[in-house]
Amino acid sequence: ADIAMYSAKDRGLGVCVYDDGLNVHSPERLGLLGELRRAIDGRELVLHFQPKATLSGEEVCGVEALVRWQHPERGLVAPAEFIPLAERTPLIRPLTRYVVDAALAQCARWRTTGRTLRVAVNISARNLLDERFVDDVLELLARHDVPAWFLELEVTESAIMADPARARAILTRLAEVGVTLSIDDFGAGYTSLAHLKDLPVHQLKVDRSLVTDVTVHRSNALIVRSVVELARNLGLTTVAEGVEDRETWDLLARLGCDVAQGHLLCRPMPAELLEAWFDRARV
Ligand code: C2E
Ligand code: CA
Ligand code: CA
Ligand code: CA
Repeated sequence: ADIAMYSAKDRGLGVCVYDDGLNVHSPERLGLLGELRRAIDGRELVLHFQPKATLSGEEVCGVEALVRWQHPERGLVAPAEFIPLAERTPLIRPLTRYVVDAALAQCARWRTTGRTLRVAVNISARNLLDERFVDDVLELLARHDVPAWFLELEVTESAIMADPARARAILTRLAEVGVTLSIDDFGAGYTSLAHLKDLPVHQLKVDRSLVTDVTVHRSNALIVRSVVELARNLGLTTVAEGVEDRETWDLLARLGCDVAQGHLLCRPMPAELLEAWFDRARV
C-alpha cells in the first residue's frame, strides 16, 4: 500500500493538499473528480473507526468514522488526498451521504450485538449550505432504524463561518431531531466565541495542535483549561483529539477534559478489526 501511495503522489493525486488556491478545473483534478465519482458509485470508499473514551473512567463512549479510498491500483488513499478537492465541488454531497449511510449501517450492526456506540461523521461547509442535507440524514436514520441520538456530526468552525446564519438554521434542525453536534478542531483557527453561544452544539473537540504539546508548553495547558471552562459554562462537553501518550492523557484529565481520542487508546481501523479491541476494552 505504501508503494501505491507514492505512485499516487507521483501521478498528481497528492497535489491538491498543498496548493489550496488552485482551481478545480485542471485536467488532473477533473480526472480525480471523475474517478472519485465512480469510486462512490463503486463503493470503493471505506470507513475506519476510531474509539473515544472518557478520561476519568476510560469507558468507550463512541467512535469517529474516518473515510479512506480503497483504490484498485493506488491502495488505501488518505482523506487529505481527496476530501479537500471534493469539498470544493458538489461531489461532497453524495460523498457525505455515502459516509453517513455506511456509518449508520455499521452503527446498526453494532446495535444488534448489543453495543451502544454513538458514531461521529465529519461534515463539510457545503453540507451546511444544503437544505437537503437534513432530509438526507433523516432518511438514512430511518433506513437503518437508528435513533438520531446515535449519530454525531463533527463540523469545523470555518465550515460554520462560511455562512453562519444558514449553518445555524441547518444545525438547529439537526439538533431538534436529536443529532449530537460537535465543533471540530476547536482552538485551531480563529475562534468565534460570539457565534458559539448561539449555536445548538453539544461538544467541543480540542484541536490536536493544542493537545500534542500540552505537556510541553504551559501556554497550551492554559488554553485547554480555558476551553474546558468555556465549554462548562456553555453546558458543553470537551473531547481532546490526538492523545498519543499517558502523560498527555493524565494532564488532560486533570485539566477537566471529558473525553479523549488518539493513538494511545486506539488507531482508526476497519470495524472487523475493532471487534478484538472492543473485547479487550470490554465494550
Ligand atoms: P479530523 O476530523 O480532525 O480527524 C482526526 C485525524 O487525526 C484523523 O486523520 C485521525 O486518523 C488522526 N488521528 C487520530 N488520532 C491521532 C493521534 O493520536 N495522533 C495523530 N497524529 N493523528 C491522529 P485522517 O483519518 O487522515 O483524517 C484527516 C481529516 O480528513 C479529518 O480530520 C477530517 O477533517 C477529514 N475527513 C476524514 N474523513 C472524512 C469524511 O468522511 N468526511 C469529511 N468531510 N472529512 C473527512
Ligand atoms: Ca473530526
Ligand atoms: Ca479534528
Ligand atoms: Ca482536522
